[in-house]
Amino acid sequence: MQRFFAENLFDGKTVKKNQLITVKAGTVQSIETADPLDDAEQLLGLVTPGFIDVQVNGGGGVLFNNQPTLETLLKMSRAHQQFGSTAILPTLITDDFATMQKAADSVAAAIAQNVKGIVGIHFEGPHLSEPKKGIHPCQHIREISPKELALFKRQDLGLVCVTLAPENVSVAVIKELVKANVKVCLGHSNASAEQTFAALQAGAQGFTHLFNAMSPLQSRAAGMVGAALLDQSSYCGLIVDHEHVDTTSCQLAIKCKTPEHIMLVTDAMSHVGSDQTELQFAGMQINRQGNKLTIEGGRLAGSALDMASAVRNCIENLHCSMQQALKMASSTPATFLGIQQQKGYLSPQSAADWVVLDNQYYVNATYIAGEKVFG
Ligand SMILES: [Zn+2]
Repeated sequence: MQRFFAENLFDGKTVKKNQLITVKAGTVQSIETADPLDDAEQLLGLVTPGFIDVQVNGGGGVLFNNQPTLETLLKMSRAHQQFGSTAILPTLITDDFATMQKAADSVAAAIAQNVKGIVGIHFEGPHLSEPKKGIHPCQHIREISPKELALFKRQDLGLVCVTLAPENVSVAVIKELVKANVKVCLGHSNASAEQTFAALQAGAQGFTHLFNAMSPLQSRAAGMVGAALLDQSSYCGLIVDHEHVDTTSCQLAIKCKTPEHIMLVTDAMSHVGSDQTELQFAGMQINRQGNKLTIEGGRLAGSALDMASAVRNCIENLHCSMQQALKMASSTPATFLGIQQQKGYLSPQSAADWVVLDNQYYVNATYIAGEKVFG
């Protein structure tokens, strides 16, 4: 049995003082108010549920697409642990089938070996809309075929998320994916609001990087953005790096959807957790200038954002409360993924996954299954 003492603890719902956390085999056994105990490990700062990032393309100097291996997953996971992420969905950008298969096999190996922090895979594409492709390579954007469908439905990949454009994938296929427990996210899409609602009706649960690479809200065409903001039950990923989305648009989204339905995502490329400034991907050079990643011509190409920075940006610049920001980083994505019994909250029977933050919301330490993995 491990014992930890938290002076300040946010359990995903409320902030409590002086809490003794007991952990057995990686699982929280109890959390109780107590006096500081000598033999308990002291957690200095604010203890909060580990961050869950559903969209991570890379980190630690490696991009999942470029090297879809188990070693890459280890590097990505470690890179993001420094910034508080205790669970990530490695995200594969549109690519050829062989790369998709390799990526899936690597994630399956990580799941089988219980690699800390890897909980599944996010296929962002390839069934997207060409006019909204962003940096996704055009030559690999294609219609869904039985082999991709079978890959998405594999049962050895942990949690599976697929981003697709509903104007290019039928309602029947969306239903089939949802039935196979795939989380369907809508994005990189030019769909009308009506097409978007039809996909939600078919079981799609999320939107990938709300506002970016999707049909906008206009006076006579509500677009995917309008449908996403109006719908009450779906979840929206939001990149709060102040490069992808204007602060007012972020605030509007949080007001419409509430923090219970907005998930902070990084959309991080390989640069996070490394000093890399240049990256080659699909024949493009991606350059970092400050917190911005662009290709020639200035188009944004993923982000250099980390989860702790996203939390700070919400508190400092969107005027979110600390609790709202932390929910959007942990309990909301956990609920979206259907793992809220294990992750996203700290309570008896949940995984002992937490982050210790200082008073400026920088990460002092990160724990997964009761083990310190950073700090
Ligand atoms: Zn994208």
